[in-house]
Amino acid sequence: MKINIAIDGPSAAGKSTIAKILAKELGYSHLDTGAMYRCTALASKKRGIDPNDEAALAAMLDEMKISFDPAGNVYLNNEDVSKQIRENEISMLTSSISAHPKVRERLVALQQQMARDKGFIMDGRDIGTVVLPDAELKIYMVASVKARADRRYKEYLEKHVEADYDEIYRDIEQRDYQDMNRKTSPLRKAEDAIEIDTSNMTITEVVEEIRRNIPTLS
Ligand code: C5P
Repeated sequence: MKINIAIDGPSAAGKSTIAKILAKELGYSHLDTGAMYRCTALASKKRGIDPNDEAALAAMLDEMKISFDPAGNVYLNNEDVSKQIRENEISMLTSSISAHPKVRERLVALQQQMARDKGFIMDGRDIGTVVLPDAELKIYMVASVKARADRRYKEYLEKHVEADYDEIYRDIEQRDYQDMNRKTSPLRKAEDAIEIDTSNMTITEVVEEIRRNIPTLS
């Protein structure tokens, strides 16, 4: 029997990387919910919508289509935006637009619908607390700001995205603050989540640690 696994934590803690590997090993589907918020931010920029205009963002979401392919590429109205949504400017904009309750309401509904039939590993900020409060396994993944800035910098270089280390470091701190202090669904550890500090762990070690915690269901 398949279960749902929720992975939450601050930006660049390794959630998506780990979720992707784990999904492959278990034959589960992976949903990177951050990519959905990022698509929303990108779409608002393309349309020139004010990031403070909650009603306009909600109306835009009712018309736009976000999809994924099995390789994890992200499409906004059928256009591959996998690279564009990772740009630093979009990361910061995403953190702002994701604070609007109407934006969250719509994306959370889509996420809940997708995970209805189980077998999902979902990563984000509010998965264990809001999206899948009944997930059979909840992980709260953290890492020091330095470890996360190092990783994100490396990731940008590998993806050939222009990057400035000090800016990434500052932006991670700022996004942590914004994500943890917003009114609607702030980032926080669900009471029944298992916390893993990945600062000094390899990817394999984190995957193993999560596997050890998967409940055996009959
Ligand atoms: O995970 P990632 O860094 O791609 O997420 C980008 C931004 O999207 C986060 O900083 C956060 O503001 C927002 N987000 C959210 N809820 C989620 C996933 C992401 O608010 N479930």
